[in-house]
Amino acid sequence: MDEFGLIEEFFTRPAHRPEVVLGIGDDAALLALAGAADTLAVTTDTLVEGVHFSRSAPAFDVGYKALAVNVSDLAAMGARPLAFFLNLALPAADAEWLAGFRDGLFALADAVGLDLIGGDTVRGPLAVTITALGTVAPGAALRRDGARPGDRVYVSGLLGEAALGFLLRGGRLSLPSQFQESVLARLDRPWPRIHEGQALVGIASAAIDISDGLVADLGHLLKASGVGARLNIRRLPLSDAYAAARPAVGYDPALVFGDDYELCFTVPPARVQALAGLASRLPCGVRDIGEIVAGAGLTLHDGEGVYTPSRAGYNHFDDPGSL
Ligand SMILES: [Mg+2]
Repeated sequence: MDEFGLIEEFFTRPAHRPEVVLGIGDDAALLALAGAADTLAVTTDTLVEGVHFSRSAPAFDVGYKALAVNVSDLAAMGARPLAFFLNLALPAADAEWLAGFRDGLFALADAVGLDLIGGDTVRGPLAVTITALGTVAPGAALRRDGARPGDRVYVSGLLGEAALGFLLRGGRLSLPSQFQESVLARLDRPWPRIHEGQALVGIASAAIDISDGLVADLGHLLKASGVGARLNIRRLPLSDAYAAARPAVGYDPALVFGDDYELCFTVPPARVQALAGLASRLPCGVRDIGEIVAGAGLTLHDGEGVYTPSRAGYNHFDDPGSL
């Protein structure tokens, strides 16, 4: 049973409360409180030592990334950051580790304007759970279920950088030295597209952040929207570092590895022009990689024929930690 089957079988239930606009199954839940001007977006993520980060990972990076993955989910909803809770399981109160963790955590919290408002600390194997809250205007959230046939499919920034960092660190890839620092930074300290997500409100018809790989995450969006997609892998936004690695690794790291924390989103043809007008608010760049089609499933092609990636994405209960 994978992560998604587990949730569906054991934890998906009808809502008791009309305030729950959107429950399990998107990047964040949406709560519309009576009388409130904004809708609340709520998301949570856990990082476990030995699964999501190694014992040797700098504490700064663990703190930064634990928050970044949550901010990325707020970004995917088009939400503004509001506040977060921190739950820490610690084997011991190691002051040096905690200082590094705190510095990484608040480096990002301060950069995006998130306040720490509570949490819990317990003794146990090292694990970090963060619950982040954001706000979005009523009805404005970017959900996974709004894509329609004819919409264009876009991704922000660059794909596959974190995968290259992962392969490089594992000794499974050699890269020219000028590229090494940037791909490791993309793996360890991804910058969530929080400003881009907000800029896409009113433009994008659906959005998701790429945490488990483009193929898997776009697959979730397609399923939620009841549509399919056709992507041209030659249009994937790849860096110079990736171009240097591509003879060895092909396209799969950009397609099926997670941890990029870019946004994948769809735009109706009538709003493509408006997206182009947003360029100054999307400094990371956005790339049209294909189109939404009627039916189900994702088809990848290279302009000549169908392309089949090696596997369908990173799934924590399936094959932890490997590409
Ligand atoms: Mg997500």
